[in-house]
Amino acid sequence: MPLAPLTTFELGGPARFFCQATTSENVGWALRWAGDQNLPVFVLGGGSNVVVGDGGFAGLVLQLVVRGTEFRSQGDHVVLEAQAGEPWDDVVAAAVARDLAGIECLSGIPGTAGATPIQNVGAYGQEVADTLRSLRVLDRRTLEARELPAADCGFAYRNSIFKREPGQAIVLSVCFALRPGARPVLAYRELANALADRARPSLSEVREAVLDLRRKKSMVYDASDPNRRSAGSFFTNPIVSADVAAAVSTQAVGERLVQAPEEVPQFPLPDGHVKLAAGWLVERAGVKRGLRMGAVGVSSRHALALVHHGGGCTADLIRLAVHVRDTVAARFGITLQPEPVFLGVAWPPLPSE
Ligand SMILES: Cc1cc2nc3c(=O)[nH]c(=O)nc-3n(C[C@H](O)[C@H](O)[C@H](O)COP(=O)(O)OP(=O)(O)OC[C@H]3O[C@@H](n4cnc5c(N)ncnc54)[C@H](O)[C@@H]3O)c2cc1C
Repeated sequence: MPLAPLTTFELGGPARFFCQATTSENVGWALRWAGDQNLPVFVLGGGSNVVVGDGGFAGLVLQLVVRGTEFRSQGDHVVLEAQAGEPWDDVVAAAVARDLAGIECLSGIPGTAGATPIQNVGAYGQEVADTLRSLRVLDRRTLEARELPAADCGFAYRNSIFKREPGQAIVLSVCFALRPGARPVLAYRELANALADRARPSLSEVREAVLDLRRKKSMVYDASDPNRRSAGSFFTNPIVSADVAAAVSTQAVGERLVQAPEEVPQFPLPDGHVKLAAGWLVERAGVKRGLRMGAVGVSSRHALALVHHGGGCTADLIRLAVHVRDTVAARFGITLQPEPVFLGVAWPPLPSE
């Protein structure tokens, strides 16, 4: 089964076996079958955060297409339960339409509801860990389903136990605790600026503003967009010590990239570390938006998005990604880490590693 059409990069070879699970029971059945054949299993959602190797995957790719969304009132909250295969943006749209606050800034993110906890999906000042209450997961070893409180998911910036320890559990459904009629979160400056003329923006206005900002950066999947074949941001924002962050600012001023250290985008974290903006590092290291390397390139609208323009292969994409990583490392001494998950191909280590 070709996997390229099932990924937003539209790259990569075939899966030896492929199965779509339309019910949770199907998931258990497929895992049992693969276990009997001694085959590795990869769980696929919408394919919007996966890099598949050109040789494909010599195991079973199990795509979760289990659908359904339910709303239940619980005290002063409404619990939204979405089955894993539900398209994420439909879930957000349904919550916003019911005036339920908590996930409105996560509008327009491609993929499925079940994948959102994997890297603790986040954007525009919100992340799923803020409102996720619990998950129903299937233990891949025992094949037993159980409820997992969000507090046990080890959420961090673009990370969770699911990403740190892949292959342990399959997310069957996710439960969010949303606040009826609550004010939207406008913690992200770009979003707050876009809504500055509204005294009290509604959740729908926030959703529209987020979609608008995302469209301008090709961060909403659009079949007519030349930047559409991507995984969104290819690199995560690096989290560094305060000393390293200060050194980057000093270097940027010394090299006249900025006039004052405050102009270097930096986000101090509660534990004393500092989050740097990967896109800023990429552009200031000299990698330009719109750069082309054959069939792949950097998005013309976002320095962090690597794009396949058609007719290329995964090796081309990885060559470009390594070029970007190494250019930033050579200029700033900071090693960018890729955000997508690699299947059937490994992310190459730095030459010094
Ligand atoms: C244009 C664009 C914009 C994007 N913007 C953002 C953004 O703003 N913020 C952000 O955080 N991400 C963003 N992404 C990345 C991506 O959309 C998210 O990570 C999304 O949650 C991936 O969902 P998916 O269903 O496509 O997962 P896939 O790509 O199919 O899988 C991703 C990982 O999750 C695992 N997985 C999937 N479903 C399950 C399941 N049910 N149980 C266990 N494991 C599972 C897979 O095995 C794999 O490891 C963007 C991507 C694109 C293409």
